[in-house]
Amino acid sequence: LSIEEAMALVRNLVKDTQSIRRSTISFNASLNEAQNEIIALREQLEKSQQDALYDALTGLCNRRYFDEELASQALNPNLFLLIVDLDYFKKINDTYGHVMGDLVLKATAKKLQATCRDGAQAFRFGGEEFAVIIPNSNFSKAKSIAESMRKAIEKITVKDKRTGQVAGDISASIGIGELLKGMNPLALVEKADKQLYKAKNLGRNRVMPMS
Ligand code: GH3
Ligand code: MG
Ligand code: MG
Repeated sequence: LSIEEAMALVRNLVKDTQSIRRSTISFNASLNEAQNEIIALREQLEKSQQDALYDALTGLCNRRYFDEELASQALNPNLFLLIVDLDYFKKINDTYGHVMGDLVLKATAKKLQATCRDGAQAFRFGGEEFAVIIPNSNFSKAKSIAESMRKAIEKITVKDKRTGQVAGDISASIGIGELLKGMNPLALVEKADKQLYKAKNLGRNRVMPMS
């Protein structure tokens, strides 16, 4: 190679190296961007998964979670189910408005969670109805948890800060169902529901069956 040829080769080599360097920098930037996007998508996925199983208003596990949980525990013996339904809840909405109604639902959820013991788990079943799954229990324990919940709900007073109005006189009726061998989850819900309606018909603010 002549000196000129060697110089031209070196110049080309320097140019190519610079070009490769620029590509690498731009590739690294794209890679960073892609990594950030993956992190953001992963966070979004986690939030969607959370939203799918939890109730937005009360933060309790939702109906979908309940169905899955009950199905997964359907073969366990000594399982009890409570259906908790607020009494005359429509009247609370009608008297104080929907916002106050929502505050009462939130307060109820809080009380239910606070009174859950011995592995009991509370869910928002829908509207003003809640469900509590009590595993490894017996009737007297389940009844005692239900009574604690009823009494805790009776004590709720909620203040709507915007209007200064206070809603008291809140109560709930509760039906208890026991999962018997071979019973499917739907039948258990029906059983607890039947007891709930008995509680309503007997004057509300009570737990059924009595024994
Ligand atoms: P009962 O003692 O027989 O259970 O009477 P109730 O008024 O509680 O029952 P009803 O089924 O007649 O009314 C339930 C009401 O709950 C009607 C509905 O507008 C209200 N509700 C359901 N979901 C929500 C909610 O997310 N927020 C509010 N504020 N109200 C709700
Ligand atoms: Mg109802
Ligand atoms: Mg009701």
